[in-house]
Amino acid sequence: MPNEVPSAPRNQTEARRVANAAYESRCCVVCGLQVPTCLTIAHLDQDAGNNDPDNLAFLCQTHHWMYDAGLYPIEAIKLLRAHWQATKGVPSHKARMKDAGVKAAVARKRRAAARKAWVTRRSSAE
Ligand SMILES: [Zn+2]
Repeated sequence: MPNEVPSAPRNQTEARRVANAAYESRCCVVCGLQVPTCLTIAHLDQDAGNNDPDNLAFLCQTHHWMYDAGLYPIEAIKLLRAHWQATKGVPSHKARMKDAGVKAAVARKRRAAARKAWVTRRSSAE
């Protein structure tokens, strides 16, 4: 992507220092990989000289490539980055599982009632 304004030269060491200081949880923001040697620092606006913390995200090699190929919108990466910071690098399924116990209990009750009705119908038919 050509830049109209010349930017500061690429400085990966500085980008990594800024990202390490800004983000406590260090994992690929897409897949959650936490192996430090596998993590790269992505410049979300594709400007390698822009080391503003909001412009940086940890990504594994694969997801860095996919981001650079345009497969993930910048907004998604920022949302995922915030998610991993909030969960401190631990995947959270709470939002999807919050009423799983209640739903399971309703389903169990419904199956028990159906079984009872079937037994009743069967015994009254004999
Ligand atoms: Zn990844």
